[in-house]
Amino acid sequence: MGSASLSFLKQNNIIHLKILMILFLSCIPDRTNLCSNNSFATLTVPPRFNSTNISLSSLETLTLDGYFSFENNHHAAKDFGNLYHFLPSAVLHPKSVSDISTTIRHIFKMGSASELTVAARGHAHSIQGQAQAHQGIVINMESLQGLKMQVHTGDMPYVDVSGGELWINILHETLKHGLAPKSWTDYLHLTVGGTLSNAGISGQAFQHGPQINNVYQLEVVTGKGEVVTCSEKQNADLFYAVLGGLGQFGIITRARISLGPAPKMVKWIRVLYSEFSTFSKDQEHLISSENSFDYVEGFVNINRTGLLNNWRSSFSPKDPLQANEFTSDGRTLYSLEMVKYFNPDETKTMNQQDIKKLLSQLNYIPSTLFLSEVSYVEFLDRVHVSEKKLRAKGLWEVPHPWLNLLVPKSRISVFAEEIFGNILTHTSNGPIIIYPVNQSKWNNKTSLVTPDEDIFYLVAFLSSAVPSSTGTDGLEHILIQNKRILDFCATAQLGMKQYLPHYNTREEWQTHFGSLWEVFVQRKSNYDPLAILAPGQRIFQKAVRTS
Ligand code: FAD
Repeated sequence: MGSASLSFLKQNNIIHLKILMILFLSCIPDRTNLCSNNSFATLTVPPRFNSTNISLSSLETLTLDGYFSFENNHHAAKDFGNLYHFLPSAVLHPKSVSDISTTIRHIFKMGSASELTVAARGHAHSIQGQAQAHQGIVINMESLQGLKMQVHTGDMPYVDVSGGELWINILHETLKHGLAPKSWTDYLHLTVGGTLSNAGISGQAFQHGPQINNVYQLEVVTGKGEVVTCSEKQNADLFYAVLGGLGQFGIITRARISLGPAPKMVKWIRVLYSEFSTFSKDQEHLISSENSFDYVEGFVNINRTGLLNNWRSSFSPKDPLQANEFTSDGRTLYSLEMVKYFNPDETKTMNQQDIKKLLSQLNYIPSTLFLSEVSYVEFLDRVHVSEKKLRAKGLWEVPHPWLNLLVPKSRISVFAEEIFGNILTHTSNGPIIIYPVNQSKWNNKTSLVTPDEDIFYLVAFLSSAVPSSTGTDGLEHILIQNKRILDFCATAQLGMKQYLPHYNTREEWQTHFGSLWEVFVQRKSNYDPLAILAPGQRIFQKAVRTS
């Protein structure tokens, strides 16, 4: 780290804190309260003498179908972000829902004397240690085998799945019945509990809402160890609290997910723009049209020579002749990505006409129309193709300082001008995804925090850092860049909200939730009064004790 950057870091507390955490986390002697300005710090702080050891040894007395492992748990101190490493004291490998409720009830009954916290770990694709528990217990949700997936056909088809199930498995199982979930994430090797604790947003969300709006029922183990079934009609407050609730109110052990007819094929289209205003106008047009595409997303490419090869990595266009001749010359380009579902035996010609008509309403650079046709599964599982390539090159397990923002439509052009025009000089560290969604189609009763406008954009900066690099592809540079982006949003008062939020102080969390903060705190005290759950989110520490 150079001395110039060090002095910069000193002026920037958040980055400073992050770097310090990366360097020193392994040296922390005991669980640390990471919220320095914690207004709850005046509440009971539990005794710190060897109560953790006493609590831990008592776990061995529990009768379980699965088991605890107390050693060799370093894998549970890692996640996709590769930035934070909190070593747990034990990992529970549950075989039944009762294993989870027995464990949590036991910790709850120990009361304030126990410092144990519990983190559900789905596929650990979090970025900032959200599924980790420093000296606590990590529950390996993928080992929960109590529930076999069950597809129910009929007028309102659905599938019952375990909270630790991967979305890719749900896709394959439901397709056997000609059905599939309607709302997805871009990558399917994530668990149901992990995405429902956040939102689950992809290019279908403008039409169907995020994944949290496509759930009929949940089974949840609360922070008191109670097993509760909840839905819109039954224990509705817990249902909406848990959806988008960052794991704070309960562990999702089962979910009933709404399904729809699955198409067999997709027509996959990409076009390019050189003006952000034209690009975003077309995106907004598509998400507001009645008979539109089934999926709408977009990317930003800044100063990437050889753009097309990279840009097409998971996409083999059928009709690239004209487009192949297009060269980017390092210009900033915006790529609009659209998909139309279809079945080969049905109205293919009708579909072609629909697509032609939709495309005729757009103002992209005419010579940049890329078309491809792939199966529905190939399309949905597209990121896995890139994952395999990156794994083969040893580039999957590098640090991922990702930043996901929700920016209101009224401020997106100001945002784009500063971020894509000034702050970022290239996008070679990873893709930037950008697309608008239509909140009027979303259910606003969940815990998810969004900007206060009907249409807002998801902007995802998906950077990978080259380990040990001190250049523009290194972690330090990317973290500083992320901070500049966040600072700009704050200074320009864009009304931006973080998606997959990450904050270090109580004030920041309070600002994030805004008027929903009081509700969030009240729900916490109802469902997890000892603040046992999801310590890795760093919203409530164990010092938050109400009993
Ligand atoms: P984990 O990281 O294991 O857990 C996340 C949080 O949820 C933790 O706080 C954890 O304690 C809690 N949790 C886990 N399981 C449960 C449970 N059963 N009950 C209660 N709480 C639980 N997100 C999108 O919305 N759209 C995308 O397109 C998208 N693409 C992605 C692509 C990649 C390559 C990656 C790495 C992530 C992507 N994400 C996307 C983000 C992803 O949705 C979240 O990081 C999600 O939390 C990951 O799921 P997971 O199973 O790995 O959860």
